[in-house]
Amino acid sequence: MLANKKLLVLAGDGIGPEVMSQVVNVTEWMAKKRTVSFDVSQGLIGGACYDAHGCALTDETVADAMCVDAVMLGAVGGPQWDGVARENRPEAGLLRIRKELDLYANLRPAIAFDALLDASTLKTDIIKGLNIMILRELTGGVYFGEPRGTDVLPDGTRRGFDTQIYTDGEIERIARLGFEMAQKSRGRLTSVDKANVMESGVFWREIVNSLHKDYADVELSHMYADNCAMQMVRDPKQFDVIVTDNLFGDLLSDVAAMLTGSLGMLPSASLGEVDESGRRRALYEPVHGSAPDIAGQDMANPLATILSFAMCLRYSFDMMDDANLIEQAVQNVLNNGLRTGDIMSKGMDKVSTAVMGEAVISELEKMTG
Ligand code: NAD
Repeated sequence: MLANKKLLVLAGDGIGPEVMSQVVNVTEWMAKKRTVSFDVSQGLIGGACYDAHGCALTDETVADAMCVDAVMLGAVGGPQWDGVARENRPEAGLLRIRKELDLYANLRPAIAFDALLDASTLKTDIIKGLNIMILRELTGGVYFGEPRGTDVLPDGTRRGFDTQIYTDGEIERIARLGFEMAQKSRGRLTSVDKANVMESGVFWREIVNSLHKDYADVELSHMYADNCAMQMVRDPKQFDVIVTDNLFGDLLSDVAAMLTGSLGMLPSASLGEVDESGRRRALYEPVHGSAPDIAGQDMANPLATILSFAMCLRYSFDMMDDANLIEQAVQNVLNNGLRTGDIMSKGMDKVSTAVMGEAVISELEKMTG
């Protein structure tokens, strides 16, 4: 039996606990069948934490998150906390944990499952077989740069401003991650900037180019962000791994999300630095929110969260075979015609959250004999 993997589960609000319980079932199946056990602890975040402790995340949970190998997060938020002061709102818990863990890289894969090709607004031949990764810098750039604000000029003109700013170290760490991901993928990295009109873009490109010599096996190319947005809907399969800054990544990852068309299918990972013990801080979560409109009704699609767990196996535990196995199980379940309401189409079997989760486990059983 491999050493215990420490996992902190923060299920959160709304459908968070429902989808996360399906992931816990997968960890239990793995402990029985895959000779790897998970030491799973649970904590509160978001509205659930506010109701229990009067804040969206406690110091104890932050301390727990620092000691585990990875954090799995469901979703936070809901209308019942709309009146709560901003600093204690559910979203504040999410922002705090990302900040405390210093998660500077956000990974969003866009994978088109054959069985769901109809869900995309793009033509089938454009997205069939799509498997790309958007790597977004998450803690720097124009969303955090100083100075920012509004002021009034001597002539009475009012203005608003933000600052796009990146240090060499910030660019280097995200770019290195991009090169490493490309090495583990199909060997191609596209760095996206606006070097044609922005000084920070010229600097971004210079740093990325200077690192290329350390990753000679990776084919590096550069693209302007506006062209990249266009290319992503024109011919997304030309990409492998895309690395970009916070602002462009925000936009491009949403474009990538809609290539595949279904919110309930989209996983994500946020990664931080490697600590003294050689462990990279990491948080995995579905892209969707807490879906209060369907919460508590056993209707939510658990596949985005299960696929986020597959990412956790791949990026935190280096368990490539198991990650592939889970992704294949999801694929098989879809091929068998099972659908939750969000991805339902004519002639398919509409199933509950629990039945979808069970179906994934029974596929895992079949594949491993
Ligand atoms: P949402 O993603 O929660 O829901 C949007 C729509 O998609 C809803 O109709 C919902 O029913 C559906 N949906 C989402 N996930 C689904 C799933 N797994 N299965 C089936 N259907 C699914 O976004 P929203 O409605 O804008 O926000 C609701 C709450 O979630 C808000 O409080 C918001 O702040 C919060 N939120 C949290 C996160 C997060 O925790 N990371 C992200 C986005 C929104």
